[in-house]
Amino acid sequence: MTTDREPPVILWFRRDLRLADNPALQAAQATARPILPVYILDDGPAVRPIGGASRWWLDKSLRALSASIAERGGRLVLRRGESEAELRRLIDQSGATCVMLNRLFEPDGWARDKDIAHALKGDGIEVKGFNGTLLTPPGTVLNGAGGPYKVYTPFMKALRAQATAPAHTPGPRDLSGAPEVESEDINAWGLHPTRPDWSTGFLGEPGQAGATKALSDFLKTGLKTYADDRDRPDRPGTSRLSPHLHFGEISPWRAWTAAYDAAGSNGVSEGQADKFTNELIWRDFSAHLLHHFPTLPTDAFRPEYDRMPWINDAVQFEAWTKGRTGYPIVDAAMRELWTTGFMHNRVRMIVASFLIKHLLIDWRKGEAWFWDCLMDADLAQNSQNWQWVAGSGADASPYFRIFNPVTQGQKFDPDGAYVKRWVPELKRLSPAFVHSPWTAPPEILRAADVTLGRTYPNPLVDHAEARARALAALKVVTGGGEAFPED
Ligand code: FAD
Repeated sequence: MTTDREPPVILWFRRDLRLADNPALQAAQATARPILPVYILDDGPAVRPIGGASRWWLDKSLRALSASIAERGGRLVLRRGESEAELRRLIDQSGATCVMLNRLFEPDGWARDKDIAHALKGDGIEVKGFNGTLLTPPGTVLNGAGGPYKVYTPFMKALRAQATAPAHTPGPRDLSGAPEVESEDINAWGLHPTRPDWSTGFLGEPGQAGATKALSDFLKTGLKTYADDRDRPDRPGTSRLSPHLHFGEISPWRAWTAAYDAAGSNGVSEGQADKFTNELIWRDFSAHLLHHFPTLPTDAFRPEYDRMPWINDAVQFEAWTKGRTGYPIVDAAMRELWTTGFMHNRVRMIVASFLIKHLLIDWRKGEAWFWDCLMDADLAQNSQNWQWVAGSGADASPYFRIFNPVTQGQKFDPDGAYVKRWVPELKRLSPAFVHSPWTAPPEILRAADVTLGRTYPNPLVDHAEARARALAALKVVTGGGEAFPED
C-alpha cells in the first residue's frame, strides 16, 4: 500500500499512451511508490512538431488515457512547454526523485532525452528508460560486423531469430496516491482543428480500447486474406493499426502474439501471420535505420540522388495535394488522405511515385504533406518509405521502376470501386474507362456526365512522356539506368 508521503515516480508518457504492456509503467509499479503520470506537449525546437492530423489523434488518445487513469483513481497531468523545464517544475512540485519513460528512438528525441537524463541525474534524480514502442530497440539487431542492417530481409531474419515476445500485462488496477499538482486543460491546447475543422471525416477510435478493438476486428476478418488483400485499396483488408502503433496505444508485441495465436483457427494460416508480422518488422527496420542514419528525413540515403534535377512545379504540387491530377487512382488516394487522415499502403506508393517520377517533385515535399495529413505520421516510417519509393533509400525500390497509374489502378482496384468512392464525378464510368477517362469515346463520357477539363481534370502529364523524362532525370543522377518493364 502506498501513501502520499512517499516521493512519487514520474511516469513520463510520450508515444506509449496505454496502460497495458507498458514497460515503464511496470517498472514504476515495481517501486511500490505513487505514480504521477504526465504528458508534456513539447512543440520544439528540439523535435519536429506533430502534424495537423496527428494532433487530432493525440487529442482523443490523451482524453482516452486520462479517462483510464481516472478510472483507477489517478490523474494524468498535462503540461505544455519545453520538456526539461516542465519536468523540473513537476519534480519541484511533487517531490519526485525518479522519472520513468519509454524511449523515443528518433535522433532528435533521443538526443533531447539523453540531455535531460544527464541533467536530471546530475541533480540526483534517477531517470530510467525502456523500450515500449518497437519489437526490438535499435542497436540490438546488428549484422555480423556489429553494424546496422541496410537491407530488410537479413534484418527480418535476424530479428525473428533473436526476439521473444514478452508476456502480456494488463496494467495496474490502482493508480491513486500521487500528490496533486496543477494540470493544464486539454481543451486549451487546440489539438482538434477549427477554422476549418477538416477532421469531420477522420476515421478510427484513438486510445488503448480502440487499438484493441481494431486488432480484434482485423483478426476476425482481415488476417485470413491478408496476403492477397493487403494490396487492395478497395477492400478493408489491413489492420488500420498504424496510428495506434505510432502513439503506442498498443504494443507491437501484442499485435504480433495475437496474430500467431489466431493462426490455426478461423481459416487463418501461419503464413498470413508471417506476412502481417513482416510488416511490423518493416516498422522496426525503418526505426532502426533512422536511429542509425539520422539524416534520413532530410538527405538522400544514397547521396547521388540529391543530384536529381527536380522541377518542383508549385501548381502541379497543389493539384497533387488536392487530388486533381487527372489520374483517378492518384486523385482518389489524395482525397482519401485529406478526408480521412489515412491512406492505404498501395496507393501511398502510387501517389508518391507519381509525385516523384511523373512530376519530378522532390520527395521531401511529399513527405511534409503526408506529415501534416496522416494520423499515423511517423518520422521513421514516412521518411524511410518516401526514400524507398524515390529509389534513394537503403533497401529501396529501384528508381527506374516507374508505376503506371492506369495499370496500377486496373490491377489493384479492378472494378473501380475505390476510385468511384473518392472521385464521385467518375462514378458512372465502367471499369474499362474509370482509370483512364481520357481513353473513353465521347459518347461514353457524355452518358457518364463526364466533361474532361470541366467536371474532371485532363491528365496533368502524359504517362509515356513523364516516364521518359523521369528516366532521363535518373541519368543525371547515376549516369545510367536501364528502362524496366512497367509495374
Ligand atoms: P497493415 O498492413 O495492417 O500493417 C500492420 C502494421 O505494419 C502497420 O500498422 C504499420 O505499423 C506496419 N507497416 C505496414 N506497412 C509498412 C511499411 N510499408 N513500412 C513500415 N511499416 C509498415 N506508416 C506509418 O505508420 N506512418 C507513416 O508516416 C507512413 N508513411 C508512409 C509513406 C509512404 C510514401 C508509404 C509508401 C508508406 C508509408 N507508411 C507509413 C507505411 C504504410 O503505408 C502504413 O503503415 C500502412 O498503410 C498502415 O496501414 P495498416 O495499419 O492497415 O497496415
